[in-house]
Amino acid sequence: MVAVRTLEAVEWETEKTAGREVVLALLAVLVVALAACFAVNGVRPPQAVAADAPVDQFSSARAMTHLRNIAVKPHPVGAAEHGVVRDYILRELSALGLTPKVQATTSVNAWWSTSVRAAKVQNIVAKIPGAAPSKAVMLVSHYDSAPTSPGASDDGSGVTAMLETARALKAGAQLKQDVILLFTDGEELGLLGAKAFVDEHPLMKEVGIVFNFEARGSGGPAFMFETSEGNGGLMREFAAAAPHPIANSLGYEIYKRLPNDTDMTIFKKAGLAGLNFAYIGDVGRYHNVTDSTEHIDERSLQHQGSYALALTRRFGNLTLSDVRENNAVFFNPVGALFVNYPGALVLPLMILSLLVYTGAVVLGFKKQFLTARGIVFGFVALLIAGLAAVGIVWLATRLVTALHSGYDFVPYGEPHNSELYVVSFLLLTLAVVAALYNWFRTKTSDLNLAAGGLLWWFLLSVPVSLLAPGASYLLTWPLLFASLGLAAIFAIRARQSVKSFAIAALCLLPGVLLFSQMIYLFYLAMMMTAGAVLVVPAVMLLGLLLPLLAFTAKPRRWVLPAAALLVALGLAAAGVSTAGFDRNNPRNQNIFYGLNADTGAAVWASDDPSPDEWTSQFISANAEPGSLPDFFPLATWSFIKGEAVALPLPAPTVEVLGDELQAETRTIRLLIRSQRKAPVATIYVEGGDDIARAYIDGKSLTADGDDKPQTDEDHLVLHYHGLPEDGVELKLVLKSSRPLKIRVNDRTFGLPEIPGANFKPRPDYMMPVSLPYSDATFVTKTFSL
Ligand SMILES: [Zn+2]
Repeated sequence: MVAVRTLEAVEWETEKTAGREVVLALLAVLVVALAACFAVNGVRPPQAVAADAPVDQFSSARAMTHLRNIAVKPHPVGAAEHGVVRDYILRELSALGLTPKVQATTSVNAWWSTSVRAAKVQNIVAKIPGAAPSKAVMLVSHYDSAPTSPGASDDGSGVTAMLETARALKAGAQLKQDVILLFTDGEELGLLGAKAFVDEHPLMKEVGIVFNFEARGSGGPAFMFETSEGNGGLMREFAAAAPHPIANSLGYEIYKRLPNDTDMTIFKKAGLAGLNFAYIGDVGRYHNVTDSTEHIDERSLQHQGSYALALTRRFGNLTLSDVRENNAVFFNPVGALFVNYPGALVLPLMILSLLVYTGAVVLGFKKQFLTARGIVFGFVALLIAGLAAVGIVWLATRLVTALHSGYDFVPYGEPHNSELYVVSFLLLTLAVVAALYNWFRTKTSDLNLAAGGLLWWFLLSVPVSLLAPGASYLLTWPLLFASLGLAAIFAIRARQSVKSFAIAALCLLPGVLLFSQMIYLFYLAMMMTAGAVLVVPAVMLLGLLLPLLAFTAKPRRWVLPAAALLVALGLAAAGVSTAGFDRNNPRNQNIFYGLNADTGAAVWASDDPSPDEWTSQFISANAEPGSLPDFFPLATWSFIKGEAVALPLPAPTVEVLGDELQAETRTIRLLIRSQRKAPVATIYVEGGDDIARAYIDGKSLTADGDDKPQTDEDHLVLHYHGLPEDGVELKLVLKSSRPLKIRVNDRTFGLPEIPGANFKPRPDYMMPVSLPYSDATFVTKTFSL
């Protein structure tokens, strides 16, 4: 029993029996837990659709047939398998009666960083003609993969969703508008294919709207996570057309403030309207060898396809004009139920919720349930609870990552069993908050604490509604309902605890549904290490739930915090004890081979902290970490190295095609070639400040709007992918005539065969880390010209 009772508290809870208290305490926990599970469980893809579905419908089983042909091996730009995938897509499009074309060109990305990325890309473009076309609907996915991944989800899912969509469109009634199918190339290297389409393709001017399909993981629902600005009209059509819409305007508010990019970035920069879709579950498989048909969740593919087909049919029968109007607010209250309203309603709704809250507080004063001191105490109390919970969960994440076996080698630091930890962190938050409120309740009444906690929602809803209106629904609706509940409790002077329980449970439900879903989505997007960040919305939610939380403290106030703590510890222990690697969840590993053609010396190297049971056959256990300037002259990190047999690999060549000096300007044209047909070359040109202009295959290495090529102080660094066998021309316009120093590293995918060496094959619980240089063979050479 609560030791100290204020006058209000006595009034708040009269006429009760011990038995009823226990029932209500259990009910309070049950209602919240069930609602939270219901909300989280609702965020899932639709069921897969079998191959015998009607021909005008999208079937994930039919798309999977394509995927089994596409996601066989890694197919980055320049790999032999890349050509196999390109030809497969071309063949399948032709089989549908379309006439696909390849747009082959060099494309440059000079805006991402101080090094420039370029590639010989081969976009695949096809058009399904409309009956009365004005502006086309364009579907986009990229068919290149990361070099360490067969790319079943990223982005084989997008490619096959488009192939199956094209088939279903051809089987159905002709649309009014043209449909353009764009399979971009070189997305993984820097959105290069999309850039080439926007800059050079004649169909670009016909595009009215773009739908882009992506994946960052191998399962989960496909979110519509990005729109073009002014999405009001777009969202009305989306809401009407998408059969299983999962989207919220909070996601877009966050995404547009992050530096993340997909091909959509390029289309939006070019002024096109559009929607962007991705699924992000099982992130450990992203860009890894495990992003395979074996691990993809077919339902995620069905989800992507359901959007592609339904939206193409919808927009393909509209007259597409510029549809920009104010951004909409949209969200899933539960499952695939979809709410969408104009942004113009954000401020009126905010004002309404503020008025209802203010009214409830005034009523509380009038009926002597609330005091000013009590509300201020309640306001500060939630802050203290939040800070305490963030601190403790932050410590818990440190502890868990220290105890989780092999944590440093888990892909992206996200263990396959991270749900256990995240639920553990959330229960720990509950334990901390519930324990602190046991003490706070000795200082003031439950209703003061509740009104004070709700004051945070009141104060936060103003800046959020003004600055990030897409996120406003998360605060406005729960505040509105919770305030109504509080007002009802004051109005009827709820002397019966059963009545006030019913009111609280009903009015707090919107908050539980929306916030549980948001915490789950935050976890999917930011992963386990964001545990301490997830605590903030969790504490906000608990602050909202104080009227219900109070019921759990009535029979035995320490039961809830103790039980939450115990379960939290149990789940964390389960996480630690099920850590480890197997063939479905392998560990990361880095190893590559490099030959310096200037010195004839070769190395095995890795940026792992130390060799493991497999890489120790290349690099000795006591290898000292150090730099590797021959291969990575600008790297700021260190490598462990071991001596390697120097293989007779021919070095890259630089041939001077022309060299002219006019006044102070030297124009030099160089042919860069790999004698061993390496698909990638990295070119370091010393003296970055001397370079006035630079061109690869005729394309300027200058970011849009700049007049100087992208360099750091000392070097121009260019990564060129898809290097043709007969080389590529680099043209430099220099401000001085002093000798030019160039280093060329060419790179092949895979480790070399060493004659006579008998290396063990890699165990199945290990895989190359998804960085460009693991499992690669480099040959480097310097030139002075
Ligand atoms: Zn991708």
